[in-house]
Amino acid sequence: MKKLLMLLLAAWMFAHPGAFALETAQPSPPPAERSILDPDGLLALVNRKNRISKTYVPDPLVLPRVATRKASLQENIYLRPEAARALEAMFEAAFLEKSYTLYAASGYRSFGIQQILFNAKVEEVGSREKAQLRVAPAGSSEHQLGLVMDIQAPSHTGLSLAFGQTDEGKWAGENAHRFGFILRYKAPWRELTGVSDEPWHFRYVGIAHASAMQALDIPLETYVEYAKQIPEYVLRGASHVLLTGLVGDLMAGRPPQHLRLLTEASKEEHEAALRAATAPYLEAGQTYEQALWYAYPTPRPTAPPWTDQDEEVQLPAQSGGG
Ligand SMILES: [Zn+2]
Repeated sequence: MKKLLMLLLAAWMFAHPGAFALETAQPSPPPAERSILDPDGLLALVNRKNRISKTYVPDPLVLPRVATRKASLQENIYLRPEAARALEAMFEAAFLEKSYTLYAASGYRSFGIQQILFNAKVEEVGSREKAQLRVAPAGSSEHQLGLVMDIQAPSHTGLSLAFGQTDEGKWAGENAHRFGFILRYKAPWRELTGVSDEPWHFRYVGIAHASAMQALDIPLETYVEYAKQIPEYVLRGASHVLLTGLVGDLMAGRPPQHLRLLTEASKEEHEAALRAATAPYLEAGQTYEQALWYAYPTPRPTAPPWTDQDEEVQLPAQSGGG
């Protein structure tokens, strides 16, 4: 009976993702003062040591236009708008490039839902300690950020390690960064993340950061530790080339060549400083613009793409037939 009530409550909360925010939401600082590392930012770090407030609810949450295994699962896949658009692009690319179908399985989860999932796991396995290995305790799940999607494929509709061995799972792991997602938990990072291998769990951080983390092969925990030493406008406007270079240098204990320039630049000098600081990290023949827009035509990390000079093409009028 108790279990049935919990299930009913869970179903209701899935259907009303914002319901718990109404009375407890706290005023947040104006956008200009918020950091990309804050809970509203794309690099927000949530894990066992960095818990998220019980009252945090992303706003707005939208429904990405992607497939789920069953229609009823659609109510489980809400995301923040930027993550939703990126997920649509990723699923579309999987189909266009490889004819792979991907399913969204679980997106935004409220603190309350996570608490129910965790308590159910405790009941199943007998202790909080054992349950923690399988389900994140409430407040330590980054699903609460609205930036995470658990992904399945028709060939594998469970959330298990076997997804990582499917063609779709491998493609997702290798290509997610092009759309701004990272494969958040890998076996070698277990000590750092506190979570073992989860080949189905993808976290949105934006194309530049995702591609930098992919290139450096490091988890978000490590990346954020070094990102804290980089100015905010650089974290928001740099390409993956500059971010990979800066974090790579910091990790190796080499002071990055232009970090001081970036740090001391005035607002008017930011654009030029980004350009100058990127130069040493560009590959032979690669331009600054190519680095900035490398994932085109998928969503851009910072600004709109070049407008091309082509005249609008007039298609010949269709005649007859139909
Ligand atoms: Zn997950």
